[in-house]
Amino acid sequence: MAVGDNVEISIDSDGQAIIETVLPRKQYLSRPDKITPERRQVIATNLDQLVVVTSASQPQFKSGLIDRFLVSAERENLPAAVVINKIDLKEPIYFTDYVESWRKAGYTVLFTSAKKRLGLDEFKKLLEKKSSVLTGHSGVGKSTLINSIQPQLDLKTKDVSRFTGKGVHTTTAVIMYPLDVEGWIVDTPGLKIFSLTDIEKNEMADYFPEIRELAPGCRFDDCNHISEPNCAVKQAVGEGRLFEGRYASYKKLWEQLAK
Ligand code: GDP
Ligand code: ZN
Repeated sequence: MAVGDNVEISIDSDGQAIIETVLPRKQYLSRPDKITPERRQVIATNLDQLVVVTSASQPQFKSGLIDRFLVSAERENLPAAVVINKIDLKEPIYFTDYVESWRKAGYTVLFTSAKKRLGLDEFKKLLEKKSSVLTGHSGVGKSTLINSIQPQLDLKTKDVSRFTGKGVHTTTAVIMYPLDVEGWIVDTPGLKIFSLTDIEKNEMADYFPEIRELAPGCRFDDCNHISEPNCAVKQAVGEGRLFEGRYASYKKLWEQLAK
């Protein structure tokens, strides 16, 4: 059984609930087991979306990291949204290129400031009646955001170190929280869950919707969109139809994969 499973219970004579059956999962998120990597460990089940939280500043906005999470979402067949928090520190205008390209690729993008209480209605709406897995670098404000729409939860937050600008790691376990908007949030300990090591190079383009869409226009069926001639993807980058930032993320992730 894992976080998010629906179960059937019976109540015994002492009033204790006993789990009788775990109902079939419509979806699950897993990672390779630490000891036996060919086995997968289930992290959370029955999720509706992945919400990637990032910060406009402190810690620094890292588009490559967001793209990495979006690849995980694609691989898990989960719709995804990007929440750019701490918008009180840096204005949305700085992120226009990225935001437009993510929206074009089919992702919801929101701006919030948990501190100044901006964009919280939209954030709530995003989570309404859904089971969402919330992820993102430590220190970007995930706990503060959840607390600001659900104060009763009173999640622990930690100050960002003044010297490094890096967040101190505060969330450790995978926990599912109920929301008043009839949704559930799964708070995850950040990056570790989303290892991309078991993806093969030739799969990567499938996980970038706009690259996937362009690929049939390439001269070679097995085009990697890296150094091949007559590549529709590289051509689109050259003509500004595909945002170079997204292509750069694709290339970087592709290069990191072993085979
Ligand atoms: P988490 O590790 O992602 O859960 O991040 P936390 O919620 O613990 O927040 C890390 C730090 O960022 C805390 O000091 C928060 O007070 C601060 N913080 C959170 N949201 C905002 C925001 O919108 N603006 C600013 N300026 N600081 C924020
Ligand atoms: Zn190509």
